[in-house]
Amino acid sequence: MGFKTDIEIAQECTMEPITAIAEKAGIEEKYLEQYGKYKAKIDYNLLKESDKPNGKLILVTAINPTPAGEGKTTTTVGLADGMQKLGKNVMVALREPSLGPVFGVKGGAAGGGYAQVVPMEDINLHFTGDFHAIGAANNLLAAMIDNHIYQGNALNIDPRKITWRRCVDMNDRQLRFVVDGLGGKTNGMPREDGYDITVASEIMAVLCLARDITDLKERLGRIIIGYTYGKVSEQKPVTAHDLHAEGAMCALLKDALKPNLVQTLEHVPAIVHGGPFANIAHGCNSVIATKMALKLGDYAITEAGFGADLGAEKFLDIKCRMADLHPSAVVIVATVRALKYNGGVAKADLNNENLEALEKGLPNLLKHVSNIKNVYKLPCVVAINAFPTDTKAELDLVEQKCKELGVNVALSEVWAKGGEGGLALAKEVIRLVEEPNDFQFSYELEGSIEDKLNNIVQKIYGGKRVVLTANAQKQAAQLEAMGFGNCPICVAKTQYSLTDDQTKLGAPTDFEVTVRNLKISAGAGFIVALTGEIMTMPGLPKVPAAERIDVDETGKISGLF
Ligand code: ADP
Ligand code: MG
Repeated sequence: MGFKTDIEIAQECTMEPITAIAEKAGIEEKYLEQYGKYKAKIDYNLLKESDKPNGKLILVTAINPTPAGEGKTTTTVGLADGMQKLGKNVMVALREPSLGPVFGVKGGAAGGGYAQVVPMEDINLHFTGDFHAIGAANNLLAAMIDNHIYQGNALNIDPRKITWRRCVDMNDRQLRFVVDGLGGKTNGMPREDGYDITVASEIMAVLCLARDITDLKERLGRIIIGYTYGKVSEQKPVTAHDLHAEGAMCALLKDALKPNLVQTLEHVPAIVHGGPFANIAHGCNSVIATKMALKLGDYAITEAGFGADLGAEKFLDIKCRMADLHPSAVVIVATVRALKYNGGVAKADLNNENLEALEKGLPNLLKHVSNIKNVYKLPCVVAINAFPTDTKAELDLVEQKCKELGVNVALSEVWAKGGEGGLALAKEVIRLVEEPNDFQFSYELEGSIEDKLNNIVQKIYGGKRVVLTANAQKQAAQLEAMGFGNCPICVAKTQYSLTDDQTKLGAPTDFEVTVRNLKISAGAGFIVALTGEIMTMPGLPKVPAAERIDVDETGKISGLF
């Protein structure tokens, strides 16, 4: 259609050497570990040793999305470029892409159009090897579990109750369920096992929530790998610490814990580090990366996965609480496409002008705005991420309706124009972060698991109440008896709706949310509440993106998007 692809735009960028980017960010040479010319890791000791006061934290989130994504990463990057154009010292903190989506449907995750982080190919493919290290730590623990059983099982682990799975960073449905340990006595104990994609491993969540290496090791030790033989009332959880695994796992992760430094197309320093799932985990980059961005920049802009009901909720209620972070402003990304989708338009018709559906979808946006302002008590602005398919009438209507309703709004054209297209949004954000705010969580940690879930369902989703199935009630009682009752809750539900039913669009009320399973991620320190079956090992589509990806004899990659 005449537009350059993301990879074409990225490859046209003349990157600055990473040493120049580090200097711009104020990173002393002693903290910089270079991975080639355009990537580096930053030593976490910088956090302890720097006395610069922290900058302002800005969260980018979105309304309930269409399956294609609404441009949170794109907006995060473009907003930073825009702030730089206004002379501000700004840093970006983002998640690292997983190879699963890169080769599957969604493609890369380094922004889009003229708002990207580079080197785009490297960031999307292996990068600095963090995910491989996480996979290795995950699989070391798996090997130690089965070896322990093989060597006599002193801990009395019931092989049928092992909850720890193996992992690989690939969409590979063939590995979801496997039987291993076959081949007779000398080849292990046969049992049902399975693989998750690496980003779904608890190690990923643990790495992303760890304050430092000591905290990382303690969290790794607390991971529950399964349970002992015996009736439910008698069985005991077995931890990685019981297997003496945390030291070696942490050793494998010592470099993966260091945040990666890259740059935006306009040479703003960007930290890209960690990438947990946004359903069974909390869906944002590492705490260390966010803290590093705050330490280095006067403004640190970061993104949380999915819509605000999942991403922002977990960012604010889990990550900010655990890491003692205090955001100064929130940007809610909305697109004409997602508003029409929430107004009932089918995916295939999203490119056609439809003012009626657009208006019908607005309540979804308004609910998220109200949550940020009235529940979390944070200042916020809606960024309308303009797509080439949007008509002027549509863009005008969103802006006009928002203004009528007193919602702060700015048009963002960063995808088409880079930082220049983000100036209006940047100016508004710079103004907003100076407003005093009275940040609050949506629930307190005290109280039952059901109480906390009711708070989230009622305040954030706008529903009537949570319903725990008989199974989930039993699990809640067990978790409370095990001493995990005061952990924050990580809800795994559809990203397409405020409810647990992806066909209920807009801003429904009067609904119930059913929780079917409750699991403890003891290392991460949260309880995962599953509303349905959540896929922790995706599959590839009929025509995977991998079929289009290639590399020529000069090493130049094509087909990534
Ligand atoms: P999210 O972070 O919300 O998942 P991304 O920023 O990764 O979304 O964008 C998802 C996809 O949409 C990317 O391929 C990106 O290039 C594309 N995209 C984002 N914003 C625009 C826009 N304004 N116009 C056209 N395509 C866009
Ligand atoms: Mg994103």
